[in-house]
Parts: sequence; C-alpha cells; structure tokens
Amino acid sequence: MNNKESALVLFSGGQDSTTCLYWAIKNFSSVRTLCFTYGQRHSKEIEVAQAIAEKANIPFQLLDASIISQLSVNSLTSDIVMDQEKPQDSYPNTFVPGRNLLFLTFAAVIARSHGIRHIITGVSEADYSGYPDCRDTFILSANASINLAMDEHFQIHTPLMWRDKTAVWQLADELGVFNIVRTQTLTCYNGIIADGCGQCPACKLRKHGLDNYLKTKE
Ligand code: ZN
Repeated sequence: MNNKESALVLFSGGQDSTTCLYWAIKNFSSVRTLCFTYGQRHSKEIEVAQAIAEKANIPFQLLDASIISQLSVNSLTSDIVMDQEKPQDSYPNTFVPGRNLLFLTFAAVIARSHGIRHIITGVSEADYSGYPDCRDTFILSANASINLAMDEHFQIHTPLMWRDKTAVWQLADELGVFNIVRTQTLTCYNGIIADGCGQCPACKLRKHGLDNYLKTKE
C-alpha cells in the first residue's frame, strides 16, 4: 500500500488492535490512535494502550464513550458474570449493542477534525465471536453510511477481517512486532497482561492461536 496519507487506528491495547497499529505504521506516513473508555472492567486496559502508543511514538487520544454503559447493561460494562461459552441461540453477554457503529462514527468525526480519511479497526469475521458488528458486510455498510452522513470519502480498513488468531500472530511476526504483541498487550478479561489468566475466553482464544502459530514455525 505504501500510502503517503494519515490513518487513525481504533486502539485498545489488545493483541488485535496493537497488530493493527503496527500494520498502520507500516502502511501510512503518519498514524494516530483513538482509545475509548466506556466503563471497562479494567482501567488497566487504558494504561496498557497508552504505554504501547508511547513506546511506538504515536499520538494517543482517549475519548469518553461511557454513555454506552448507560444505554445497556452487559458483562463488559458492569459486574455481571461473563458467559464462558457463546450461548447457542443468542449473543454472548459480552455483546454491547451498537458499539462498533458508535465507535466508527466517533472515530470518523475525530479523523475528519485531523484531516484524516483512513480509519483502521481490528474487527474479524474469521474468529467471529458472535458479534454482528464485526462482520465485513456491517463494516462496508457503516463505511458507506458514514461517508453519506458527512459527505466525506473515509476508507475503513480491516486488516484482520479474514484472519483467525493464528494468522493474527503471523501478521505480528511479519511486521516484526511478535514480541511486543506477546509481552505488552492486554487481551485477558481479568486484566492480566501478556499471556493473561489463561482461563477466560479471550485468553483461551489467544493461546489457541499462539500455540498453532508456534507449531507452524517449528
Ligand atoms: Zn484471561
């Protein structure tokens, strides 16, 4: 791509968005990050995100999106115990209705104020956690709607859309940041950095992908 343009990365300090951050650094001439707060169970997530951005020498912007936790109650925005498995006939209770549509809209408004038209988000349909707003068709639709809403030409990039967790580790390795992603990111729902608690669904998914990727390197 080798783009002379700027990009805004939706950034949380987790494995996926950190890989996206370094993908953006490689593909765009200048990069900013945008991190949302919305009553996360662990404000540690924000500290971790800020530290990663600082080390990469990338501007870090925090936006209070806590209105989301006033709109609906779920296990990411309150103390409800989270589903360990995806229920067969419904969304996991970590689903925050409308979250990605709101986040992309906020991101586009902020990107516009910086003269940026490229927006990068780490959603993936391959490791589809049951969230409808991680699907490619949703992103294409949101991109079209946001452009119409603001009469702009934003381009939303989803470098992880068709990558499962194994392929996300591979991408981090190709970008030369495998160790940074492995040791500095926070994916764990229990707020433990790097390899995490090992027990929560996010840790299990991350470890499964990591083990598979390491096997391909043997
Ligand atoms: Zn965990």
